[in-house]
Amino acid sequence: MIPSQFEYHRPADMAGALAVLAEHGDDARVLAGGHSLIPMMKLRMADVPHLIDLQDIEALKGIKIAGGQITIGAMTTQHELIADTALHAAAPIIREASLQIADPQVRYMGTIGGNVANGDPGNDMPGLMQCLDAQFTLEGAEGKRTVPARDFYEAAYMTERDDEEILTQISFAVQQGGYAYEKQKRKIGDYATAACAVSITKENGTVTAASVAMTNLSDTPVFSEAANAVLVGTSCDTADIKAAVAAALEDIDPTEDNRGPVAFKKHVAGIIIKRAIERAASRA
Ligand SMILES: Cc1cc2nc3c(=O)[nH]c(=O)nc-3n(C[C@H](O)[C@H](O)[C@H](O)COP(=O)(O)OP(=O)(O)OC[C@H]3O[C@@H](n4cnc5c(N)ncnc54)[C@H](O)[C@@H]3O)c2cc1C
Repeated sequence: MIPSQFEYHRPADMAGALAVLAEHGDDARVLAGGHSLIPMMKLRMADVPHLIDLQDIEALKGIKIAGGQITIGAMTTQHELIADTALHAAAPIIREASLQIADPQVRYMGTIGGNVANGDPGNDMPGLMQCLDAQFTLEGAEGKRTVPARDFYEAAYMTERDDEEILTQISFAVQQGGYAYEKQKRKIGDYATAACAVSITKENGTVTAASVAMTNLSDTPVFSEAANAVLVGTSCDTADIKAAVAAALEDIDPTEDNRGPVAFKKHVAGIIIKRAIERAASRA
C-alpha cells in the first residue's frame, strides 16, 4: 500500500529537528531507520503529515565507552551495535540480543533509538534496556532530561516521551558478571513469542545481583523484581532457578494472538526464562 501524502523534512542538526517538531506538534513524527514507522504508514495505521528524517544529525550517532559508562547515540543501527568490538567487550549481551532481531537487511537500517522509542511490546531492546538499567536521554524545547528505561514504558506504543521530544542517547554501565538473551520465535525474522534478558553477578559462588527482564509477555517490557529477589543470596542451583522462574511468570500478562494462546505463551516463557537464567549463571 501507499502511505497518505506527507511532507519530508531532513534537518542537519537537533535544533532544526526540534523546530519542525515544535511547529507541527502532533502532525509530525521523527523517522529513524523506518522499519517500524514506514510499514505503519503504508498500512495507514499511522498518518504522519510531517516526517522528520534524523539521518543527517551526526550528534545522534556513535558509541562511546568511558569511565565505566556506555553511551549509544539513538541513530546507531543494530548492525553497528553488532559490529562494534569495544561494545562487545563492554556489554556482550548487546550483540547476543541484536543478532536475534529480524534479519541483516532490517538490522542495517533499524536503530537502537527507534527500537526503544517505538513502544512496541515485540521490540527486543526495551526489555534488554530494563535488564541493563539503562537511562534514556530526551531532548525537547525545554532542554534535556533523563528517564530510566524501567520507568519509560506506560502501555503498548505509549511511553514517557512527550510528542515534541527526541530520544538522543541511551546509556548504561559496563556489564559485570554473566549474561544471556534468550528468544523464542516462529521463524527467522519474526518478533518474539517470548524473550528474556538476564544478568547475574556472583561472588564466591553466591549471587550478589540479578536482573531479569522479559519481552512480548505483556503490553510493556517486564522487569521482574520478584525473580531478582529470589536469586540474590543463592547459589543459583536448580531449585533456586525454578523458584525464580515461578516468580517471573507471576509478573507477566501475555495476550492471545497469532503466536498462540495465553497458556502456550506462559509455557514458552517458562522455558525461555529458565534457559536465560541458567546460561547467565553459568557465565557469571
Ligand atoms: C520484517 C521485520 C522484522 C522485525 N523483527 C524485529 C524483531 O524481531 N525484534 C525487534 O526488536 N524489532 C524487529 N523489527 C523492528 C526493527 O528492529 C525496527 O527497525 C525497530 O523497531 C525500529 O527502529 P527504526 O530505526 O526502524 O525506527 P522507525 O521505524 O524509524 O521509528 C519507529 C518509531 O520510533 C520513533 N522514533 C524513532 N527514533 C526516534 C528518536 N530518536 N526519538 C523519538 N522517537 C523516535 C518514530 O517516530 C516511530 O514512531 C522488525 C522489523 C521488520 C520490518
